[in-house]
Amino acid sequence: MHTILIIEDEIDIAELIRLNLERNQLHTELAHDGQTGINKAFEHLPDLIILDLMLPIKDGIAVFKELRNDNRTRSIPVLMLTAKAQVEDRIAGLEEGADDYLTKPFSPKELTLRIKSLLKRHTKSEHSSLFDCPPFKFNTSTMQLYAENELIELTATEFKLLLYLCERVDTPQNRHTLLKEVWGYHDEVNSRTLDTHMKRLRQKAGDHSHLIETVRGIGYQIISQ
Ligand code: CA
Repeated sequence: MHTILIIEDEIDIAELIRLNLERNQLHTELAHDGQTGINKAFEHLPDLIILDLMLPIKDGIAVFKELRNDNRTRSIPVLMLTAKAQVEDRIAGLEEGADDYLTKPFSPKELTLRIKSLLKRHTKSEHSSLFDCPPFKFNTSTMQLYAENELIELTATEFKLLLYLCERVDTPQNRHTLLKEVWGYHDEVNSRTLDTHMKRLRQKAGDHSHLIETVRGIGYQIISQ
């Protein structure tokens, strides 16, 4: 059974999420402020964390950074919750490396779908093996990426996205397909997610960033070396 940690100070929203997840056979832990959230993350090592951005004591971005800086919690997928007005916050969250986000108010059904997609993505990648796409080398059991034997730290979502593109090297992948296959989205409302992830992948790829190509009017592709 998967455990989901919900870090949300609005009690009503936290309860609504909890009820929906438990109805879907997911175990939940609750925290109503940032510091308690961090403590519970270390204590329970959940399979996924739902993190509100506006939190008392320690805000969501600070909590997120602390989780990503610790080996125990680094690779736990994080879905951020943001208020509609806080566009800047949301972009900041994605640029820090959140795996997904939802804007309030959201439908509980949508949240459940996103969580299932994130969990599936994360679990699936724990059970396969090695994949080579020079100069990239993917170890899908440890979720590690090497470029010419140098380790590149990626989040679970960045890893999945780059792997998906590398498995289809030299073939442009359209935005719609990427959002659907990697995030489970069925519309393009969240296409900014894709661009921020691609931007981060380029930064992390460093000397190899030229292999990640934007294909005008289509989407992205990895070109062979
Ligand atoms: Ca809040």
